Amino acid sequence: MDIPRIFTVSESAHRIHNPFTAEKLAALGASLRMEPGTRVLDLGSGSGEMLCTWARDHGISGTGIDMSPLFTEQARLRARELGVADRVTFVHGDAAGYVADAKVGVAACVGATWIGGGVAGTIELLAQSLQDGGLILIGEPYWLRLPPTEEVAQGCRAQAISDFLLLPDLIASFDALHYDVVEMMLASQDSWDRYEAAKWLTMRRWLDANPDDDFAPEVRAELTTAPERYTRYGRDYLGWGVFALMAR
Ligand code: SAH
Repeated sequence: MDIPRIFTVSESAHRIHNPFTAEKLAALGASLRMEPGTRVLDLGSGSGEMLCTWARDHGISGTGIDMSPLFTEQARLRARELGVADRVTFVHGDAAGYVADAKVGVAACVGATWIGGGVAGTIELLAQSLQDGGLILIGEPYWLRLPPTEEVAQGCRAQAISDFLLLPDLIASFDALHYDVVEMMLASQDSWDRYEAAKWLTMRRWLDANPDDDFAPEVRAELTTAPERYTRYGRDYLGWGVFALMAR
């Protein structure tokens, strides 16, 4: 079971597979005022940077589920590197339908809401693992401004304009689900650049090291087009944020 190879090639050197810097991830962790010992569930945990650094900085414990064997292994290595391997566990698997055995204080899905079939379905899934009064974290893109055409939306790697909402409408959608938005951390253009532009050197180095790999043409095509596509479309149109929610 794995995710499409382009992600594990282009993001192999990323610790955070989202448009957040380490500083933003740390600021989000501090903003949530988690008590030591808080249990955190993370669906689509990637290379585990959120759980590992929050375990180090705030004494939380956690479980992450991720479909990528490579990212899951990187997460386990990171836990050992930060000395938190006794408190965080990373499971390789499909997080769709995953409900924790013991209820958690924080249930997160940061940049992978297709796991629950969209934002509303993911909130419903996470809520099944959450203790009363717990926090749900949702990381999700939104439009900084509406794309004028479907073609522009596709340039942002959306399937359609209707995939995402404007920020106030995304916030309103949480309200409609009877959740209070109690915290929020948004990506900036700089932090988006760290996510997107860092892929380009990784891809170039991979191509130089693997010129005869069957997958090389796909990586070559991506490296050739990604910088222009990102600067023409995504950089001006797409926002991203993590929203902390509490049920009313
Ligand atoms: N939350 C992490 C990773 C976000 S990228 C971070 O912020 O760094 C999206 C992640 O979802 C990838 O690591 C990918 O492997 C994972 N993923 C995709 N589909 C999944 C599924 N069905 N179940 C579990 N993980 C999935």
